[in-house]
Amino acid sequence: MTPAQRRDRHRGRIYGNFIDGADRPAVVGQLLSTSDPFSGESWAQIARSDAADVDLAVASARRAFGPWAALRPTARGKLLVRLAELIEEKAEFLAEIEVRDNGKLLAEMHAQTKYLAEWYRYFGGLADKVEGRVIPSDKAGIFNFTRHEPLGVVAMITPWNSPLLLLAWKLAPALAAGNTVVVKPSEFTSASTVEFARLVMAAGIPAGVINVVTGLGAEAGAALVRHRDIAKVAFTGSDLAGQKIYEAAARDIKPVSLELGGKSPNIVFSDADREAALMGVVSGIFAATGQTCIAGSRLLVQRDIAEDFVARLIEVARSARIGDPMDLETHVGPVTTPAQYEKVLSYVDIARSEGARCVFGGAPIRVEGGDAGQFVEPAIFVDVTPQMRIAREEVFGPVLSVLTFETEEEALAIANDCDFGLAAGVWTRDMGRALRMSAGLQAGTVWVNTYRAVSFTSPFGGYKRSGLGRESGQEAIHEFLQTKSVWIATELSTANPFIIR
Ligand code: NAD
Repeated sequence: MTPAQRRDRHRGRIYGNFIDGADRPAVVGQLLSTSDPFSGESWAQIARSDAADVDLAVASARRAFGPWAALRPTARGKLLVRLAELIEEKAEFLAEIEVRDNGKLLAEMHAQTKYLAEWYRYFGGLADKVEGRVIPSDKAGIFNFTRHEPLGVVAMITPWNSPLLLLAWKLAPALAAGNTVVVKPSEFTSASTVEFARLVMAAGIPAGVINVVTGLGAEAGAALVRHRDIAKVAFTGSDLAGQKIYEAAARDIKPVSLELGGKSPNIVFSDADREAALMGVVSGIFAATGQTCIAGSRLLVQRDIAEDFVARLIEVARSARIGDPMDLETHVGPVTTPAQYEKVLSYVDIARSEGARCVFGGAPIRVEGGDAGQFVEPAIFVDVTPQMRIAREEVFGPVLSVLTFETEEEALAIANDCDFGLAAGVWTRDMGRALRMSAGLQAGTVWVNTYRAVSFTSPFGGYKRSGLGRESGQEAIHEFLQTKSVWIATELSTANPFIIR
């Protein structure tokens, strides 16, 4: 099928909210246009919701909470496994919708939509393996045990870069734990989440367990965070929005988990396998047009190989095919939103004004059919120093800052001199160094001789300004549970009631 045929399949859609198992227009009835980042075509419209819509969605989730939490965990798990099967059947359809909305490569989005089924399968399997403990009490005549209970209605707020994958990281453990959910997807990429909610219903999960409210962050998003019946907010997005959400949630002492931005170092030592490191650096910054939270946007390369390494990097960057993301041959697609496109170009200017030297790319380019005009040639900057903004701030685009170092200690110091701490890459053949670096790096994920690998089996999250809490892996289910300690007296006591037992 041609890219044009794939686009033709998704056109002229109007997406309402998804509340209590059905599509519902927003109360006020306003719509927001959602456009294709490649062609610029306004291909769908979504509801612009406000606090009244949020009230309806939260009320629906509250009604569904009791019966869903009471369902045996094994039964909840089976429904999630059924959902995983439906996701696999619909993976291509969901991937095309994602590409229509966020302009990322069809090849990558298709792999991602197939893979996200694994989160539902994994947490479906885990649903009936959450066990309390019998505590060996220090007190006589007491039987003490713990129970892990769901929180209630969880708000989930997601960004535009990988809408369904990042939702799966929250939704699968939250549902397995017995919570119900209201999702507010990004205003730029809401269609796939509404389509997904329909799939959740088709899997037999009861109405109201998942609700979707679309609209703007400052309207629908903010109303959801401050709603008094929300028990927790799970957020993925920028550090600035995360900070606002954290502050708003603090008013009601609501717990939050935050998956925020990054400025991840990708560190290449001179003893590394040069070609493998090169591919790792390219995949870290130019894949997904640099629009990933784990982008390896700071290349730290040992000084004696820096010149050769950058020369090879330029060759690979030059060979990247920039074009239509619906075309399976494309390597680099457009930037997702007009504002993000302007931001990327502004950082190219900032880097130049700070004295960094652009040795490749960085210019806006025209691509046939790319009428949205949101293409930037992958950019490589050398002569970058750790104090420059281009070495400290998240660009979220295909812009690589190259820094050099002499020693392992210096590499570690530069890598950790950063507000963010989401991920880091280390390229070396020396396993002692690999272990020392992985212990010393302040990052939630460290990859050695690989980059950009994630899995449902392994915890993911940020140090420092990159976030709070962990997603994926067994411990993630506890982000959506609270522990109750139950004390049962096995011998009745009439001891002095004015002294604590
Ligand atoms: P964003 O922060 O602008 O928006 C994310 C979501 O928050 C959107 O749904 C938006 O509508 C909503 N929002 C914004 N302000 C809000 C408010 N005050 N109250 C409630 N909701 C609000 O982020 P984005 O531009 O969509 O995504 C890019 C950012 O996401 C980057 O910083 C990137 O690093 C980060 N990200 C992090 C991870 C991770 O797992 N750590 C993954 C992907 C993206």
